[in-house]
Amino acid sequence: MQRIKKGDLVQIISGNQVGVRGTVEEVIRAWYVDQQTKKRVKLDPNKDLVRVEGVNVRKKHKKRTAPNVPGEIVDITTPVHISNVMVVCRKCDEATRVGYKQDADKKTRFCKRCNSSIDA
Ligand SMILES: [Zn+2]
Repeated sequence: MQRIKKGDLVQIISGNQVGVRGTVEEVIRAWYVDQQTKKRVKLDPNKDLVRVEGVNVRKKHKKRTAPNVPGEIVDITTPVHISNVMVVCRKCDEATRVGYKQDADKKTRFCKRCNSSIDA
């Protein structure tokens, strides 16, 4: 179970874009599943990253690749560390910590401020 998933609305809580909100485009996790034990093996917690729409956008200067293909400047969204973002609860509109609830066979996430479910 992941605290932050693709498609979540998150808020930046650290760095020079504090307070900015955006949608998670991608979660980059530094773990793999060991085939023998079927367990997750952590590689490096410093490499758990998220790409958030509109956050940490850099200009990349692309060189021309052929004489008739001109170079260009493109915007790329650079990943930020997962600890620098918090999930935003859509009910109470606040950045919040996430709890887990086990109902029947499904595990759902809930907002620790107002107790409403985050996984709608
Ligand atoms: Zn809430």
